[in-house]
Amino acid sequence: MARDYYEILNVPRNADQEEIKRAYRRLARKYHPDVNKEEGAKEKLQEINNAYEVLSDPEKRARYDRFGEAGVSGAGAGVGVNFEDLGGFADIFESFFGGFATGTSQTRRRSGPTRGDDLRFDLKLEFREAIFGGEKQIRITHLETCTTCGGTGAKPGTRPRTCPTCGGSGQIRRATRTPFGSFTQVSTCPTCGGTGQVIEEKCETCNGAGMTQVSKKLKITIPPGVDNGTRLRVSGEGDAGQRGGPPGDLYVYLFVQPDPHFTREGINIISEIKISYLQAILGDKITIDTVDGKKPLTIPAGIQPDTVLTLEGLGVPKLGNPVARGDHLVRVKVEIPTKISQEEREVLEKLLERQKGGNKGGIEGFLGSIFHNK
Ligand SMILES: [Zn+2]
Ligand SMILES: [Zn+2]
Repeated sequence: MARDYYEILNVPRNADQEEIKRAYRRLARKYHPDVNKEEGAKEKLQEINNAYEVLSDPEKRARYDRFGEAGVSGAGAGVGVNFEDLGGFADIFESFFGGFATGTSQTRRRSGPTRGDDLRFDLKLEFREAIFGGEKQIRITHLETCTTCGGTGAKPGTRPRTCPTCGGSGQIRRATRTPFGSFTQVSTCPTCGGTGQVIEEKCETCNGAGMTQVSKKLKITIPPGVDNGTRLRVSGEGDAGQRGGPPGDLYVYLFVQPDPHFTREGINIISEIKISYLQAILGDKITIDTVDGKKPLTIPAGIQPDTVLTLEGLGVPKLGNPVARGDHLVRVKVEIPTKISQEEREVLEKLLERQKGGNKGGIEGFLGSIFHNK
């Protein structure tokens, strides 16, 4: 499973384009094959390039933020979700969680409200859970605004004081006179670190941070039809914002466990059955396992090895439109026995005699074709 692009570039989710570019340049220099002869440096650089390609393009980045890699990878990336499906899914998602948070273009002022960090949670799903969806309980740990001090970081009963150094602006200006004129240099206030406030008596619960780590349970609604690599966004469940800023979001990455009997190809489910050569020749009515339980399947007489039979509508529900479902495709393997009973042998030898006698076609013809297919 590929790593998260933000992690690769080591930038926060709300990093602006400038930050991303800087991070990319730094890493690209570090792992450039001319400089770095270490094993794996080339692959690392490729990974960095891929991440930058997406995150440096606002449109691609927005898609990546919403849908993960499935939203930005072209064909052949091996993720069985197509983008149109995800489009529909996003709408469903919106109705579940009450819409996306405000836009991403947030200017960061040091002393102003800051949006909290986004968090990632990896969630394993059973094969059937991904197909039919459902509710999952997860436990996450995130930063919440301290309830003792209400986020100020100051001991209850006391209040943060306006910083005496900067007068509350969080910045200090220094004027420099030069022969060419006077320049004003602005820098972060060293006393308050840019917050504009100083706390004299710290809140004991959060030790002045204004936030505490809280472990909480969340119920996640998994829509039907999700796949490996689908990412769900739970609005507002990331870390708390600072100074009244909005909280970040929680991203739930889905990992679907393989099933011993079924595999998925897009919205179709594939399985394999074995039938005897006699069932292949004569046809049969059998029962097979589907994700909806046991279902009848008619084997037509004279079926050829590796024929694929279709059970319509027993595949994966379409993400965003679960009424529409793919099919269950059954690949039929015909087993040729390596040992047969004496009785069976006698019957078969009789049939073979007859075939040799010129009476081709009919059952014997099929039998011949099966044996030749071996
Ligand atoms: Zn506190
Ligand atoms: Zn200050």
